[in-house]
Amino acid sequence: MFDSHVHAAPDVLDRIGDDSQVARAYELADFSGFVLKAHYESTVGRAHGVAELTRRTVYGGIALNQHTGGVNPSAVAAALAAGGRVVWMPTADAHTQQAAGLPRLCDQEPRLGAHAYAIPPVDPQLADTMDLVLALIADHDAVLATGHLSGSECRWLSERATAFGITRLLFTHPSYTVPGLNPATVRALVEAGGYAEITAYQLLHQPDCTPALLARVAEAAGEHLILSSDAGQPDSPSPPEALVMLVDVLTAEGLDRGWLTAAASSTPTALFAPG
Ligand SMILES: [Zn+2]
Repeated sequence: MFDSHVHAAPDVLDRIGDDSQVARAYELADFSGFVLKAHYESTVGRAHGVAELTRRTVYGGIALNQHTGGVNPSAVAAALAAGGRVVWMPTADAHTQQAAGLPRLCDQEPRLGAHAYAIPPVDPQLADTMDLVLALIADHDAVLATGHLSGSECRWLSERATAFGITRLLFTHPSYTVPGLNPATVRALVEAGGYAEITAYQLLHQPDCTPALLARVAEAAGEHLILSSDAGQPDSPSPPEALVMLVDVLTAEGLDRGWLTAAASSTPTALFAPG
């Protein structure tokens, strides 16, 4: 299996283990690799270092939050030139996160001020900046992940990504609290292209999330489904266990285990692998 979304220490929040400990857990579970995500730091260098240690495929990227100045083409260019495979649109500092009252770095360090970020159509002024970011992602054939942006911004990204020739589009946990999209909306998004993610974190920590709801989202995504752990929290199972649990829980909902396993192995492997 291949986990396309995990968090490790060092981070601004407590994590279950550092990069090498998390990598070791995947090694013991016989995973082929993982994607290291952080909300406040490029993981490109960390992913490279731990890949050397563990002999797994490990990819990193950058999330466009307050530490990069939000949607910042310079940060994107640097991360991709250094080998980053994914650019996450604003996550912890997306306007949706602020509106939902979910945790942010600026809660810990009030001197920073609280900045929140949106893209078109919510913030039309960002159109030119976003076009440069999308051109960079296309140049590097990297993955565009929608972060915690809203449904209307996901639709805008989908259309612009197509215009820029981006073929690797991932709707980041669309049924999570943010952006909180329903199965019909998820289906409409993936019908236009891209993959929809469901995470074990949702099952473990999302208020009112049930296996039945996630099963409806999985069905809506169909062959465009990606399962990941989004684990790394100290109170979650180890990341490989969390992802295996997600497959098991969805299988128990009557979904096909082979399809679910592909969504946690060959599908994300192909999405992230350099062309
Ligand atoms: Zn995450």
